[in-house]
Amino acid sequence: MKQAKVTAYAKINLVLDVLRKREDGYHEVAMVMQAIDLADTIHLQEAQRNWLHTDNKHIPPNMNNLAMKAVTLMQQHFPQVAPLQVTLQKKIPVAAGLAGGSTDCAGVMLGINKMYNLGLGQDELERLGAELGSDIPFCMGGPTALATGRGEKIEALPHCPDLFFVLVKPSFGVSTPKVYGNLRVAEIKEHPDVNRCIHALKAQNAEQVLTSMGNLLEHSTFELQPDVKKLKDSMAAAGCNHVLMSGSGPTVFAAFAEEAQAQQYYQKIRNEYPGAMFARTVNQKMLEERVALYGTD
Ligand code: ATP
Repeated sequence: MKQAKVTAYAKINLVLDVLRKREDGYHEVAMVMQAIDLADTIHLQEAQRNWLHTDNKHIPPNMNNLAMKAVTLMQQHFPQVAPLQVTLQKKIPVAAGLAGGSTDCAGVMLGINKMYNLGLGQDELERLGAELGSDIPFCMGGPTALATGRGEKIEALPHCPDLFFVLVKPSFGVSTPKVYGNLRVAEIKEHPDVNRCIHALKAQNAEQVLTSMGNLLEHSTFELQPDVKKLKDSMAAAGCNHVLMSGSGPTVFAAFAEEAQAQQYYQKIRNEYPGAMFARTVNQKMLEERVALYGTD
């Protein structure tokens, strides 16, 4: 029986800029996205019918789950794909600004591509993934990329030098549409500098990557949820100069170039935030090994 195990990595935004609101209602963005090793695990196995088995009660069950939407999409395009049981172990917090649902969706598509030898290339996978959500094309590839348009146009960037992160997800969620709805781009004078970050990546200058981090959505999320701003301030006061909200929030991360410093900070901050998570940048080898086939044909 054909089976696959997929490691589905979370993403953070090193830079998130919003350029303008478009006529179609979407916002034009420019984001430097980075995969981190905080990950969900997905098992795919042929079965009598499609069904989802998960340890998480906070995500949509069965065919409404993004992982299962990926199964349906692949079966529509490739009839040789059999009914599948998807077992999803969630470690990425839900509705956190870490693309948890998108990476599960991308992971299922990557797993099916390999299980059934479909031979889909990166471009084709990204195009298919974009049918289900703007963050999915990035999650197909990575580990470091520039996302433009609605976030679905992906351009690979030089891989980020090793960075280490401590992430805190508040217990409440924030609605991404509300955060964008509340954003008044034209009133914001200072935008984060995407190009400075790209130069730093080209130069493999970790310190400069850290100092170029920025997220325009903080303006809006902080207004809607002042507790996210309080969390950011408290994480900075705990001893980190590079603290940022990821995506539309509410997760906030502290970033370090030195692993030992990050570990020390992690130990310290866990007293106040027991749910804090440690992560590092995903590298090329980790990406290449994220789908493993097992079982017999
Ligand atoms: P993004 O950063 O892409 O905006 P997010 O990290 O804020 O996403 P997700 O964890 O992807 O948020 O959850 C967004 C919505 O997707 C939630 O309402 C959740 O119920 C739904 N969802 C569907 N499938 C999944 C899944 N497999 N894992 C997590 N959420 C899922």
